[in-house]
Amino acid sequence: MNKQIILLPGDGVGKEIMESAKIVLNTVASEFGHSFAFHQHAIGGDAIDQFGTPLPEDTIKACQQADAILLGAVGGNKWDSLPGHMRPEKGLLGIRKNLGLFANLRPVKGFASLLHASPLKEDVIKGSDILIIRELTGGLYFGKPSERIANGDAVVDTLSYHRSEMERIIEKAFQSARLRNKHLTSVDKANVLESSRLWREIVNEKSKDYPDVKVEHLLVDAAAMKLITQPNSFDVMVTENLFGDILSDEASVLTGSLGMLPSASIRSDGVGLYEPVHGSAPDIAGKGIANPLGMILSVALMLKHSFQLEEEAAQIEDAVNECLEQGYHTPDLHIKNGKLVTTKEMTELVVENLTTKSVSNSICSMYV
Ligand code: NAD
Repeated sequence: MNKQIILLPGDGVGKEIMESAKIVLNTVASEFGHSFAFHQHAIGGDAIDQFGTPLPEDTIKACQQADAILLGAVGGNKWDSLPGHMRPEKGLLGIRKNLGLFANLRPVKGFASLLHASPLKEDVIKGSDILIIRELTGGLYFGKPSERIANGDAVVDTLSYHRSEMERIIEKAFQSARLRNKHLTSVDKANVLESSRLWREIVNEKSKDYPDVKVEHLLVDAAAMKLITQPNSFDVMVTENLFGDILSDEASVLTGSLGMLPSASIRSDGVGLYEPVHGSAPDIAGKGIANPLGMILSVALMLKHSFQLEEEAAQIEDAVNECLEQGYHTPDLHIKNGKLVTTKEMTELVVENLTTKSVSNSICSMYV
């Protein structure tokens, strides 16, 4: 397989963990006979410093021609005093909108060796394996008008959705549930919001095409509670932009390790942007101690969702799990009697597990 991948390292630890992504991808390429070409471009604060804008035209054009995009993180104190439209985060919102990446996928799965670090009791979090699907390009974050009115003493934000925007994300959620445990939880606020009533109507319509998928409707407040009382009762959760932003962040801390979580923002033709859930971590940037595993697991998501390389993706996930089982951890993770390693060392360990794995697999297949 021959693919063009755009790399957007961005700011802070984004640059450090992007190096890990490249190393892992090069290993996958040589182990499995693929060719991945990398093209690096600026976004966020890095782009502001170089080009005076968080999302240069050149970056947009390159992303429009890519098979997939990997992003590190954007933001940092250095750019905090800039006006809203010039902030690094605008680069990220802009690229998602520009490419029409309407579906945000966040898998939340606890690694056995890290369950003790969850803020929840181990027996509550144990077995949790949730895929949160958030609508990403509509709703309150993009509705117009969004402005101060009445001489600045009042304010208006607009929550608007077209039926087609809801249909495509709900369809994606049903497809995903069908490939997993066939349980879909749709989250809304249908007791108050008109947009939620249309959302619920569409979920019920679509469920007729997926009789094998069990559908449950939850109000967003109940969903927030259930995420911490019974996280292992969820399979796939789907919701609109604002609710998804909040619930996916709530879910991200349940496994006790922000640095471990990957995410994907994709559209119907499979093109996607893949990034770890965490930010640019300015407090540890440049120290070589950032956890690269969220980024490496984002690479696995990219191989699975954009390139349909299920086997390669599974091997990366296994290699990461093995590192943790062997007790290796960066300073953000806590493994009892574990071995503390740097970003670079953790990346090398993943590569080592990955190469051992593909060698042992090919030996196994020789004897089948
Ligand atoms: P953050 O996620 O950057 O950091 C929160 C905490 O988690 C910090 O203590 C940090 O050291 C730690 N952490 C994060 N990633 C880590 C990793 N890979 N390894 C080890 N520890 C890690 O959130 P923040 O501090 O609220 O935000 C910092 C900047 O990042 C802000 O400018 C914010 O706007 C931006 N941000 C960007 C994104 C993104 O690019 N997608 C997401 C969230 C925040």
